[in-house]
Amino acid sequence: MTRGHVAEAKIWNQSEALVISYRVDRMLSATIQTALAMIYPPRCLTCSYLVDSDFGLCGPCWRDTQFIGGAICDSCGVPLIGHSGDGELHCDDCLRTQRPWVNGRSAVLYKDNGRRIVLGLKYGDRHDVVGPASMWMAAVARDILKPNMLVVPVP
Ligand SMILES: [Zn+2]
Ligand SMILES: [Zn+2]
Repeated sequence: MTRGHVAEAKIWNQSEALVISYRVDRMLSATIQTALAMIYPPRCLTCSYLVDSDFGLCGPCWRDTQFIGGAICDSCGVPLIGHSGDGELHCDDCLRTQRPWVNGRSAVLYKDNGRRIVLGLKYGDRHDVVGPASMWMAAVARDILKPNMLVVPVP
């Protein structure tokens, strides 16, 4: 009876120690994050204006970034204005020129702020763009992603 009680207390202590250690780690992590945010506050990806969270866009830059949605070309991902989005659609360019890939998707139009983001990534050493850009691409490509498929970025 006593041995069982001791063993139970020991297990409880280990569990409590793990919980306390976990809380300290979380508090330390939160403190470090707060300190980093004070030293390096989150800034807009394109204009460096202060924003609420990391890897975001400020209001004017968000407005000037045209994210693609609705009916799109299944080959290159450009928006197809005037189409309902039902079935497999292709733009005039992809109908004229056969693409060497099966499906393509695009997250933003290559103009205005979308162009600035892409150029910053390609030529401006803006590695901070990789995270948000990959999230945007994953969101627009989720309907064509399959296990073991080859994904190639076409900047
Ligand atoms: Zn901005
Ligand atoms: Zn197309």
